[in-house]
Amino acid sequence: MSRSETLARPAGDAAPGGSGAAEAGVAEAREDGLMSPDRLPSDRAGEAALRPRTLDEFVGQSELKGHLDVLLGAARKRREPVDHLLFAGPPGLGKTTLAHIVSNELDAHLQTTSGPALERAGDLAAMLTKLEPGDVLFIDEIHRLPRPVEEVLYPAMEDFRIDIVLGKGPAARSIPLDLAPFTLVGATTRTGLITGPLRDRFGLVTRLDFYTADDLVSIVERTAGILGVAIDTGGAAEIAQRARGTPRIANRLLRQVRDFADVHRDGKVDAVVSADGLAFFGVDELGLDRASRAVLEALCRNFGGGPVGLSTLAIAVSEPTETVEDVYEPYLIQQGLLMRTPRGRVATPAAWLHLGLEAPQSGPDTHPGLFA
Ligand code: ADP
Repeated sequence: MSRSETLARPAGDAAPGGSGAAEAGVAEAREDGLMSPDRLPSDRAGEAALRPRTLDEFVGQSELKGHLDVLLGAARKRREPVDHLLFAGPPGLGKTTLAHIVSNELDAHLQTTSGPALERAGDLAAMLTKLEPGDVLFIDEIHRLPRPVEEVLYPAMEDFRIDIVLGKGPAARSIPLDLAPFTLVGATTRTGLITGPLRDRFGLVTRLDFYTADDLVSIVERTAGILGVAIDTGGAAEIAQRARGTPRIANRLLRQVRDFADVHRDGKVDAVVSADGLAFFGVDELGLDRASRAVLEALCRNFGGGPVGLSTLAIAVSEPTETVEDVYEPYLIQQGLLMRTPRGRVATPAAWLHLGLEAPQSGPDTHPGLFA
C-alpha cells in the first residue's frame, strides 16, 4: 500500500535542521551493516541489473503505481513533460528505481545528481542548462540541497527559467535564461526536512511504504531469476520474512544465501538452506543482525531489561549513541522489542522471549504498566 497525495501543501514546513553532521556519522556507521537499508559498496555493482525497467515490473506499491501510470499516460498522450515528482520514504524501497522507470517509460534521458553534490548555485545551473527537452532530472537526497541552490530550482521548476547573476554588488545584473521543459524527480528519506516552497512545486508527492512479505517474495523470486539462482517459494519466503520490508535488503540477503548454497550445499535454495544461510550470516528469524541483537542482549543481560539511559546502553555495545538511536533502535521498536520511555530504554516481554531468556519476575513492580 502506498499513500499518494496530489499536492496541496501549506507553506511553512519545517526548515532543514542542523542534523547534517549526525546524519553523516550515521551513514558511515551503517556502511558495514548487513541489514542496513542504505546502499553498500557491495550492492552497487549488482543493483543496475536488478532494477525493474517498467512500471509493470515494479512489484507492490499499487496505489503509487496507479497514480504514476495515469500521469505518464497523460503526458505521453499530450507529448508534454510529466509534472515534477517527489518520492519520499526510507532507503532501499525503490525511489531511484522509480526515477529510472519514469525516464524509461517516457523514452527520455535521465540525468542523475544528489543534494549534497550540488554545493553551489552554479553546479545546479550547469546541470539545468544542459538538459534537453523532455529530460528527467533526478536529485537524490533532495532535502540536503543547500538553500541558495534550492532557490535556483524554484523558477526552474515553475517556469523552466533560471536567473543568471552577472557581477557583484550594486553593478550586479540578473539575466533570465530559458531552459528546456524537463521533469524533476526528487527523492528524500526525510520529508520533514523538505521546505514548504520546494514541496509546493512538485505536482505529485508520494510516500513509499515498507513492502509486504508477499511482495518481497515476488521481488526475491524475480531477482533470483535474473541472477540464475534456483530457489523455491519456501526459500524466498525465509528471505522475505527477514528483509525488514526492504527490497534492497531482500536482494542482498538473497546474494548471501546464494553464496552459502554454492559453497556449503548443492546450490539450490529451499526454506532450510535459506534459514541455515541466514543464520550463518548472523541474521535471525526477525531480521535482526548481530549488532541489533547485541543491543537487546545488553539491555536484558546487563541491565535487567532497563530502564537504562541511551548513552549507557551505547557504551555497553561500544557504539556511538547516534548509531544505536538511529540505526538499531527503530527496527527494534517497530518489532515491539524495545521501548523508549522517559526513564530510559526498556526491553519488552517479546524481547526476553526472542532471546530465549526469562523475564524478571519483578517486572510489573519495577516498571508499572509496562509489563501489564
Ligand atoms: P532507494 O532509491 O529508495 O534507496 P533503489 O531504487 O535504489 O532504492 O532500490 C534498491 C534495490 O531494490 C534496487 O536493486 C531495486 O532494483 C530493488 N527494488 C526496489 N523496489 C523494487 C520493486 N518495487 N520491485 C523490484 N525491485 C525493487
